[in-house]
Amino acid sequence: MGIPFIDLRAQYERLKPDIDRRIRAVLEHGQFIMGPEVAELEGELARFTGCRHAIAVSSGTDALLIALMAEGVGRGDAVFIPAFTFTAPAEVVLLAGATPVFVDVDPATFNVDPDDLERSIRATAAAGDFKPRAVIAVDLYGLPADYDRLNAIAEAEGLFLLADAAQSFGAVHGGRRVGALAPVTAASFYPSKPLGCYGDGGAVFSDDDSRAEVLRSIRLHGQGAHQYDSVRAGLNGRLDTLQAAVLLAKLPVLEDELAARERLARLYDERLAGLVATPPRVDGVTSAWAQYSILHEGRDRLAAALARQGVPTAIHYPRPMHLQPAYTRFGGGPGSLPVSERLAAQVLSLPMHPYMDEATAHLISDHVAAALERREKVS
Ligand SMILES: *Cc1c(COP(=O)(O)O)cnc(C)c1O
Repeated sequence: MGIPFIDLRAQYERLKPDIDRRIRAVLEHGQFIMGPEVAELEGELARFTGCRHAIAVSSGTDALLIALMAEGVGRGDAVFIPAFTFTAPAEVVLLAGATPVFVDVDPATFNVDPDDLERSIRATAAAGDFKPRAVIAVDLYGLPADYDRLNAIAEAEGLFLLADAAQSFGAVHGGRRVGALAPVTAASFYPSKPLGCYGDGGAVFSDDDSRAEVLRSIRLHGQGAHQYDSVRAGLNGRLDTLQAAVLLAKLPVLEDELAARERLARLYDERLAGLVATPPRVDGVTSAWAQYSILHEGRDRLAAALARQGVPTAIHYPRPMHLQPAYTRFGGGPGSLPVSERLAAQVLSLPMHPYMDEATAHLISDHVAAALERREKVS
């Protein structure tokens, strides 16, 4: 048997009685859309994050889009996003009718660089084509962005700060849980995320009552007080009851799983220090370790060598957004965002999941060391 990159099967084996019971209950009551599990999950998510409102939605991407729609972000607006990220935060900006402005990331955290963000806001305002309107911060690999500075910048500039916590659900920043770090937070429950369901799912978080009401309405086709009142354009953005049931079975073990990820990350850190650049750590901030991603100049050859030894790896992400065909017209071309470009050339994600044993992490570390040693002998 090869080493799995992630192992959802092991988690199912652990939680099988609860997951099966929860799914069976939905099959019995038959309320597949907005059934009681959805409201129950929202209550649990609000409690877990310490955020007043949790609104379960159809995916992390829809969570981002619904948040932008609720804020009225649209034509003529500039939305600032890190260039080194998954594609969803960029595409929702276009879907909302606004214009993405790509910002470089901080080499020490891989998250949006607040200094480059400030520069970019000033440059956009000076150019005058688009109105600086919103920032989408992405908590890459599970490490929350610098919300102290981002909230301060957003407040000073009058911008809407939206946290993309698709990879960081469960992480803590300065004693507060992800979900309560920005005015609005979007989470994803895609199966491989730190908290995942068995299909697509997501949630939007906000402390603000009136904002929450608009978010709930957009999720339900822009519904008003009654089912067939349409008070705005919305989406079919609901979370399936079955997925809520799965998440209710998984949420109680999330903290335990996060602790297991942290133990493995520390083991990797110790074993790989000096061989490769190990992932960023920030004082007072924990990571949800959606990925454990190292940096190495010979990334592609290292990945190939590991594959030959049966060690799967992945590249998150091989091309920064401003160099993607769909978005080049919004960017400054190659060389314009040098940190994002270097990271895209050097990152490599190693197997990481809460059910990996320490022996496997040691074995993977041995293979990394051996691959790098062989290369040194050759060169
Ligand atoms: C996975 C992910 C999303 C999208 O979530 P889906 O649930 O797949 O729609 C958005 N942003 C980031 C950073 C992600 O990693």
